[in-house]
Order: sequence, then C-alpha cells, then structure tokens
Amino acid sequence: MAGEPQADCLFCKIVSGEVPATVVRESETTVAFRDINPKAPTHVLVIPRAHYPDAASLAAAEPAVAADILREAAAVAAGDQVDATGYRIVFNTGAGAGQTVFHAHAHVLGGRGLEWPPG
Ligand code: AMP
Ligand code: ZN
Repeated sequence: MAGEPQADCLFCKIVSGEVPATVVRESETTVAFRDINPKAPTHVLVIPRAHYPDAASLAAAEPAVAADILREAAAVAAGDQVDATGYRIVFNTGAGAGQTVFHAHAHVLGGRGLEWPPG
C-alpha cells in the first residue's frame, strides 16, 4: 500500500530506528537528521515517516505531510541559526538529478554561501 515501509529502504530503517542517525527534530509525520556526508555546515535531511519514492508522489498522496516537511525544514534552519543568513531546501528527483535514496527527502543546506544555479 502507498506509504507503507519498504524492507529495502535505508530511510525507512532510519524512521524505525534500525539504522542510527543523528536526529535533530521529530514530529508525528516527519524525522529530520544530519546528512552523513554534509555538503554545508548545516546539511539536514527532512523525511516523511511514510515511504514515498519522491517529493511529487508524497505531495500527490499526502499533501499535508509535504507541507509538514517544509515547516520542519524551516524549524531546522532556525534551530541551526542559519535562517537569517539564508538556506536552501532541495528535493533531488530522479537519478539524473542526483537522487540516490528513493524515499522522499528535503535537503536543508546553510551556513555558507550557496551559489546559484547549483551544479
Ligand atoms: P539524494 O542524493 O538527494 O538521494 O540524497 C541522499 C542523501 O542521503 C545523501 O546526501 C547522502 O549523503 C545521505 N545519506 C546516505 N546514507 C545516509 C545515512 N545513513 N545517514 C544520513 N544520511 C545519509
Ligand atoms: Zn522508505
């Protein structure tokens, strides 16, 4: 069923606690944890507890949870005190755009100058 945990999904295992992560925030619908290979001083991933392969499928099935992700991303930025200097929320979608984990996630990046457009 849509949204059900997937046995072979790394981020479902982080949600369940089977794989450890440095969790910075949790809500009823989301978990936020530090990226294991940070690309900026603040690099946090915000994920839905439910499994959807990407942001678009999450938004189509559970738009309120997609909104929760954006709200939690802002709270992460405020918690790391990068909100005043600016931060970026990125949803890589598809292998061609760099998506490697097919459980929807927002990257929250900040704490250094961020170039635009990204590579
Ligand atoms: P993406 O390439 O957009 O799919 O992003 C996946 C992100 O997950 C990458 O930035 C990885 O560094 C990160 N990542 C992979 N494994 C872990 C892990 N066990 N804990 C935290 N972050 C991870
Ligand atoms: Zn998953």
